[in-house]
Amino acid sequence: VLEMRGVVKRFGDNVVLRRLSLEVRRHEVVVMLGASGSGKSTLLRAVNLLERVDDGQVLLSGEDITDPRVDADAVRARIGVVFQQYNLFPHLTVLDNVTLAARAVHHVARGEAEALGRELLARIGLESRAQEYPDRLSGGQQQRVAIVRALATRPELLLLDEVTSALDPVLVGEVLDLIGELKRSGSTILMATHEIGFAREVADRVVFLDHGRIIEQGPPSSVIDHPGEPRTREFLARVL
Ligand code: ATP
Ligand code: MG
Repeated sequence: VLEMRGVVKRFGDNVVLRRLSLEVRRHEVVVMLGASGSGKSTLLRAVNLLERVDDGQVLLSGEDITDPRVDADAVRARIGVVFQQYNLFPHLTVLDNVTLAARAVHHVARGEAEALGRELLARIGLESRAQEYPDRLSGGQQQRVAIVRALATRPELLLLDEVTSALDPVLVGEVLDLIGELKRSGSTILMATHEIGFAREVADRVVFLDHGRIIEQGPPSSVIDHPGEPRTREFLARVL
């Protein structure tokens, strides 16, 4: 689904992604780990075309989306994205939040969009809250709504950037459970997280970023439990 080839991103003299190559296959869940500043968010933003890469290519289902002739909005419509916080529109009901992109971007009829929206809300046990505004929900509930909203357009790829790090620890579990469920239902996910236990349980592959390079990747049983690189070991020793 996703292939990054030799991607370079600089901010001035700061080289944030250094000839980085990464593949995410259909139905795969890839979890990125790495210290603060290692480039995880920049990588996700480059895939969603929120950042222009300085060199290399990003292919989405075989199409080079770094080609300047590509329509960025059309590319973004094929990708679901959830960030750390501020994901929902406060002035729209929960149901309108979930159905907005399907209706506005994909031109799905209201009735059809709302049927899917209610089905998605039912999946997270929030169907009865459809007509309420986001501020009436807990942080964990809001973040789960943000995640199912990203699914409402049936994206080819879901990008999640630290979706639990703004949450109260007791609410983290319900959001991680939802991501585990998405994996079981076949979603393709590339995510950054600091939740090592979750990465160990759910990731098909763990990618460890260090200063804009992938220094180690593989199944969690190798990267997390038996890291080969000293820098991976150091990082894990600090966070575990
Ligand atoms: P964290 O774990 O803290 O979220 P991260 O791995 O997501 O970190 P990035 O946010 O990708 O790291 O940042 C990587 C580097 O790029 C940092 O040195 C950061 O200062 C720099 N950077 C990110 N965005 C910009 C920007 N818009 N302008 C200038 N520098 C930036
Ligand atoms: Mg980040």
